[in-house]
Amino acid sequence: MNPPKKNNDFLEDPRIIENYALLQDIGVFRYLDRLHKEIRDYQSLLAGAVDIFNRTSVHDIMDAAVWQISDQFLPSFIVFLWRPLQAKEDLTIRGYRNYKVADFPISIHSITAFDDFFHHYPRPVNYRFMAEYIGNKPALRSLDKIEPELVAPILGPSDLYGIILVGRKMLNADYSSEELDYLQHLMSFVSNAIQNHLHYERSVRDVKTGLFNHGFLMTRLNEEIARSRRLNGFASVIVIDVDNFKDFNDNYGHLAGDRVLENIALLIKQSVRTEDIPSRFGGEEFTILLPDADKFTAWRVAERLRLSISEMSVPWSHPLPRVTISCGICEFHKESQLTAEEIINRADEALYQSKKQGRNRSSHWKSGLLFKLEHKNTERKPDERC
Ligand code: GH3
Ligand code: MG
Ligand code: MG
Repeated sequence: MNPPKKNNDFLEDPRIIENYALLQDIGVFRYLDRLHKEIRDYQSLLAGAVDIFNRTSVHDIMDAAVWQISDQFLPSFIVFLWRPLQAKEDLTIRGYRNYKVADFPISIHSITAFDDFFHHYPRPVNYRFMAEYIGNKPALRSLDKIEPELVAPILGPSDLYGIILVGRKMLNADYSSEELDYLQHLMSFVSNAIQNHLHYERSVRDVKTGLFNHGFLMTRLNEEIARSRRLNGFASVIVIDVDNFKDFNDNYGHLAGDRVLENIALLIKQSVRTEDIPSRFGGEEFTILLPDADKFTAWRVAERLRLSISEMSVPWSHPLPRVTISCGICEFHKESQLTAEEIINRADEALYQSKKQGRNRSSHWKSGLLFKLEHKNTERKPDERC
């Protein structure tokens, strides 16, 4: 069987040689060269898109885009200005020279000045053109200093997410209209990747505290249960509840209460490992899933956290009293054969034990815990430890 013919096999046809001068004269070879270059550019754009879509954080998406742009144009620098996702955060400014993160003397705090321009010109443009349109705004004076050549928007469905400034080419040539098209395609991939990332983050996070939400915790807990059964491993869950928080709200107001919850969430985030899953269970209750942690490790985590929260001071318009938490811990492993709901219930029972014994403490789940507690209550011996 003959091997399959390549698309450009006709180039080896002797008639090409016979008519070479004619074909060259009418520009067929130039046209072929252009098509080849376009194919290469599309392939590189596609590879870039795959790389960008595989990234899972905004910084990683930016890094991937920088590699693509640098490979394509060799610009002297690239700077991203990224609008914060939450009002409390600052504008992110991330600059690169030679593929590496570098400092740039840019001191702006908002990209609102560019909203209107990119609403009218939603594509990469010459920086000077944009600067003339916008006029003498303080935001521009800071950007002028680094002398960008191009500016490209990163546009969301209804918002300008960020802008990217691109310096002159190292080889000093101008950017062609094809290169601007390439940049525009790349920026729409960046914007889509960021939207995917934002949708994902919003679906797994609690808005008030930024911790994971209850749904995500249960998904991960079920995964950990399956993993512990498969690999004969173990893990623990800590359930946390703020003590007497209703009184706190009644005395100091709901907004002060919210601020306290945000600060507790921050301490929880700081006190766990990257593989742990800190989440807000709802209200003033939090949960931490600790893969590969036995009940002793979980106990140490809970106690460290309990102590740091009891020492936490939260800035507010008037002094706020310190708050305390109570914790309940449940370990699970292959033999325990517990469902996710049963694990949470056991950690809750242990938490109930901490509350009954006076709050501001941690307890492990043990068999017969509820019975013991009820028994103790009827005997009125509240200080006896389980
Ligand atoms: P205990 O020590 O037994 O847990 O007492 P508690 O007062 O904390 O318990 P209770 O369940 O009676 O009250 C929980 C309070 O938590 C009631 C509610 O006002 C408050 N709370 C729940 N969610 C939020 C929130 O998002 N923000 C604020 N500020 N308060 C909240
Ligand atoms: Mg509660
Ligand atoms: Mg409470």
